[in-house]
Amino acid sequence: MSKIMIIGAGGVGTVLTHKCAQHPEVFSEILLASRTKSKCDAIKAKVEKATGHTGLSTAAIDAEDVPALTALMKAFKPVICLHVALPYQDLTIMDACLAAGVHYLDTANYEPKDEAKFEYSWQWAYQDRFREAGLTAILGCGFDPGVTSIFTARAAKHHFDEIHYLDIVDCNGGDHGKAFATNFNPEINIREITQKGRYYENGEWIETEPFEIKKSLNYPNIGTRDSYVLYHEELESLVKNYPTIKRARFWMTFGQEYLTHLRVIQNIGMAGIAPVKFKGQEIIPLEFLKAVLPDPGGLGENYSGETSIGCRIRGIKDGKEKTYYIWNNCSHQAAYDETGAQGVSYTTGVPAMIGGMMFLTGKWTGAGVYNVEEFNPDPFLEKMNEYGLPWQEKTGIELEV
Ligand code: NDP
Repeated sequence: MSKIMIIGAGGVGTVLTHKCAQHPEVFSEILLASRTKSKCDAIKAKVEKATGHTGLSTAAIDAEDVPALTALMKAFKPVICLHVALPYQDLTIMDACLAAGVHYLDTANYEPKDEAKFEYSWQWAYQDRFREAGLTAILGCGFDPGVTSIFTARAAKHHFDEIHYLDIVDCNGGDHGKAFATNFNPEINIREITQKGRYYENGEWIETEPFEIKKSLNYPNIGTRDSYVLYHEELESLVKNYPTIKRARFWMTFGQEYLTHLRVIQNIGMAGIAPVKFKGQEIIPLEFLKAVLPDPGGLGENYSGETSIGCRIRGIKDGKEKTYYIWNNCSHQAAYDETGAQGVSYTTGVPAMIGGMMFLTGKWTGAGVYNVEEFNPDPFLEKMNEYGLPWQEKTGIELEV
C-alpha cells in the first residue's frame, strides 16, 4: 500500500492512472498532477468510475518549476513519482525527487527543448546523487524503451550466452482513419523521426540519412510492412549493458501516406524548432503544428488493428548459433475499450505501471540510476502477461533482418 504521484495527463497518463487504480493493494493513493488540472480531473472522474478506486487526487503543476514541484512532493509525500509528461521535464523532476526524497521512474530520456538530441548522459550524471540519497531512478520504462530492453534482458538471461545481433522491430499496423496523426506527443514524435538514422556496429555508431535503410518485414498477425532504421534511445544503454553485441538496430514501420505528409511538413518548415516571429510574437513552428494535429490521446475511438513490437536476436548458446524472436501484439480497440486510449498510449502506460509495481513490491531494488534491463526481467514479464500485454517467443526461426 503506497502513495504515488503521476505527472502528465496525456494519453500515457490516462492509461497509467487507469492501470495503477486497478491495483489499490499496491497503489493505495494516487496524485495525478499536470500542467492543466482540468485534464487531470477528467481522467480522475473516468478512472474512479471504471475502477472504484477512492484514493485519487489531482493538482496543477509546472514540472519545470523545481521549487513548486518539490513543495508538492513534500506535501503529498509519495514514495515514487511516475513521470509521463514530456522528456523536457526529466531533469527538473529528478531534481525535485532528490530534494523531496522521492523515487523516480520515466518512459523517455531527457531531451533539451532547443536541440532534438536524446542521450542518457544527462540522466546518467545523476547516478551518484541518487545513490548517495538512497533513492532509485528507473529510466525508460515504457514499451520502447522499456519492454524492448526487458525482452533483451530475458534473452540474455535465459536464451543466450552471447547476444551478437539485436534488431528491435516496432510495427504499428493500426488505422485511426485520419489523414495524418502521430500516436504520441506530435512534437516529440516528429523531432525523433526526422533525425538522422543511427545504429551500432562493431563498437561504432553509424549515421544514416533519415529513412535511408528500408526493409519489408513480416509482423505476426499483421503481415508485411515497410520498416526503416532510425535511432532509438534504448540502443545506447543496451550496447553498454550487453557488450557482446556486434550490431544493434531499431526498425519502425511507416506507410507511404505518412511519409508524404512528413516530407511536406518538413519542406514547408513546419517541423522547425527555432522560434519565428508571427503577428508580433515568437512561435515555434512544431509547437504550432502540435496544436492543429489530432490529439494522440483522442485517437482511440474507431482505431482498428494492432501494434507489434519485439526483438529479433541472433547469438550463441552452448557454442551454437541461435535465433530468437520475442514480441507483444496489442489491439488498439481492446486498449480503448479498457482505458479509453489507443494502443501506443496503452503499451507505454502499462509497463510504467508494472515498473512502479516492481519497485513498490521490492522486486526491483537498489539506490542509483538504472536502465530497466539492469533489473530482473522475470517478475516484470510475468505481470505483462497478467495485465494486458501478453508476449510470445520463438527460437530457431528466420529473422529477416
Ligand atoms: P501527451 O502530449 O499526450 O501528454 C503529455 C502531458 O504532459 C500533457 O498532459 C501535458 O500537459 C503534460 N506536460 C507538458 N509539459 C508539462 C510541464 N511543464 N509540467 C507538467 N505537465 C506537463 O504525450 P503522451 O501521453 O503521448 O506521451 C507522454 C510521454 O510518454 C512522453 O514523454 C513520450 O515521449 C513518452 N512515450 C514513451 C513511449 C515508450 O514506449 N517508451 C512511447 C510513447 C510515448 P498539457 O495537457 O497541459 O499539454
